[in-house]
Amino acid sequence: MAGDSRHLFEGTNPGIGAASGADDDAPYFVHDAQALDRAARAFLSGFPGQVTYAVKANPAPVILAGLSRAGITAFDVASPAEMALVRDVAPDAALHYHNPVRSPAEIAAARRHGIASWSIDRPAELDKLGDIAGDEIAVRFKLTVRGAAYDFGAKFGAEPDMAVALLRLVAERGGRPSLTFHPGTQCEGAEPWARYIAAAADIADRAGCRLARLNVGGGFPAHRSGAAPDLQGHFDTITQAATDAFDTPPPLVCEPGRALVADAAQLVLRVKAVDGRTLFLNDGVYGALGEWRDLPAADRVAVVAPDGQPRSGAPVPWRVFGPTCDSVDMLPAPLSLPEDLQDGDRVVIGGMGAYAGSLVTRFNGYGTTRVALPSGTGHRRRAV
Ligand SMILES: *Cc1c(COP(=O)(O)O)cnc(C)c1O
Repeated sequence: MAGDSRHLFEGTNPGIGAASGADDDAPYFVHDAQALDRAARAFLSGFPGQVTYAVKANPAPVILAGLSRAGITAFDVASPAEMALVRDVAPDAALHYHNPVRSPAEIAAARRHGIASWSIDRPAELDKLGDIAGDEIAVRFKLTVRGAAYDFGAKFGAEPDMAVALLRLVAERGGRPSLTFHPGTQCEGAEPWARYIAAAADIADRAGCRLARLNVGGGFPAHRSGAAPDLQGHFDTITQAATDAFDTPPPLVCEPGRALVADAAQLVLRVKAVDGRTLFLNDGVYGALGEWRDLPAADRVAVVAPDGQPRSGAPVPWRVFGPTCDSVDMLPAPLSLPEDLQDGDRVVIGGMGAYAGSLVTRFNGYGTTRVALPSGTGHRRRAV
């Protein structure tokens, strides 16, 4: 989980369809600035409140700068390293430190970065913050809600009764009480938000507290398979739920990661060997396909022959291994790829701007997070 985002500018790459060579032998990403801009604008114009970016989805400076240019002025950070990355490209941005468990050294670093918005989910973490006068404290709560690709409630979030008690403590100590939740990631339907927002109104009411803000988390779906998700439908459900649940809805905040940045990169891999219906790629679950252990494989995949032509054979299931010597380095389910795929082909995967580069390890000497910026000539972007 230790991808060094500063690698992201090391080296350049000729891009898809260019001549092969040593540089082209390793995996790389192709940045799509326009797609990043489009996603940011869809959130900024469609979401009924403040849009903050959850930096962990992709901390690359090119991403942070693109979002900042598009008008994102607040960032959800989880560590001092993420704070520093944001400050490098957006010195005046608001930072929300929404990792509810922190060491004293991390709290001190956050104060030096000017953090004035924190989340907590247990009394001891509130105590650790010391003087909170004037700071926003967002109490993170959890419900049992299905619908996300995997469950975030197992680690963080207070039960509703505890959230009531925490809101009261925050108010007593002079903080600005808010509520927050994170419904999971890649939530295909908007129902989790409707349930969480109704519960938030109930918690605030029981605490006798007027919320400074309600942060509805991230978890918005990216386009991974099938049709692109209906983000505006999610926003409309959130607006409606807030109107239904509160007499006067508090200002809303969201903190998407995936849905803002997934389309900002394609991943370009290379087939290293083919053996029957098994193939070896130059990257796998220890690298940019790390998430594919936990989520179903995406279907936005094209296979391109060395001459630049797409393979058009009938799709068949392939067993896919990564490049390391570890037998765990295998996709959990077969991948549907053209039957005429061959050694040396490139495999181009769309929608890989989120949780791909940020999860790359260097295990066994593999794994890179190089990004090609397709501004020059000769790059042919493929729609995947
Ligand atoms: C990871 C995370 C996010 C972003 O989640 P996405 O699924 O990428 O939108 C937002 N908020 C919190 C608290 C998180 O941990």
